[in-house]
Amino acid sequence: MVSRKFKRIKVRVKTPIAKTGNGAIAGGKTNNFLLIENGKEGKKYLVKGIRGLVSHAMMNRAKEKGVEVCHSSDKEKTQKGENLLPEGFHPRADCYPENECIQHRLMGSIHKPSKIKFEPVIIVSVRAKGTNEGAQKVQLATETRTALMQGSKRSIQDFGDKYFAGEFTFVIELNEELTKEELGYLLQAILYTPELGLGGSINNGSGRLELQEIILQEVIRTRTIGKNGKVVQEEKERSLWKELADAMEAW
Ligand SMILES: [Zn+2]
Repeated sequence: MVSRKFKRIKVRVKTPIAKTGNGAIAGGKTNNFLLIENGKEGKKYLVKGIRGLVSHAMMNRAKEKGVEVCHSSDKEKTQKGENLLPEGFHPRADCYPENECIQHRLMGSIHKPSKIKFEPVIIVSVRAKGTNEGAQKVQLATETRTALMQGSKRSIQDFGDKYFAGEFTFVIELNEELTKEELGYLLQAILYTPELGLGGSINNGSGRLELQEIILQEVIRTRTIGKNGKVVQEEKERSLWKELADAMEAW
């Protein structure tokens, strides 16, 4: 038998409507909703953009507190010399290793792995049949629209924008122990995510999030080889309410 003990944060959210990813890519077919399985049980999609959303919420919390952290951009200026960095941020990983900031300690960069891991959120239509193991059921909708050539009715581009609505849970696994301050920073960032919204078309009313539940757990996961070689995996979980409350105070 093998086992591993670790902590994770489970966040249950609800969205009235969201379009994942960064919105339409100019001049191409939109690719904001990643189809990862198209089987008998229906189409499964990956919800993109959650890590980026939490990362931006972190940057917001740091700025609010006047703490300088890594920006998501690793450049200070564009090739034309225009400033890319708002005040209060340094280019990503600029702080490492001498004055490593809290953002870099948590999220890492090409120089150092992240302390936290975002589990993929896989969704499937509520109408899908079968067990759809590992997928969360939501409402899916596709908006088809066409871009017309100016002054004519000739179509120059077709869009098939995918939206989803409903409740889903995202999980952040802690690869190593976080300090109270780091955990607090992460929790406060999660609490702030509804102010930013998920994915594209936010200014058109999409991407609204309602946070419903945030749980910090200690997990012991074991895996063993059972009868006829069948692998049996089990998880024991325990909620850490005090640690969660202490962390909220620490940032
Ligand atoms: Zn930094």
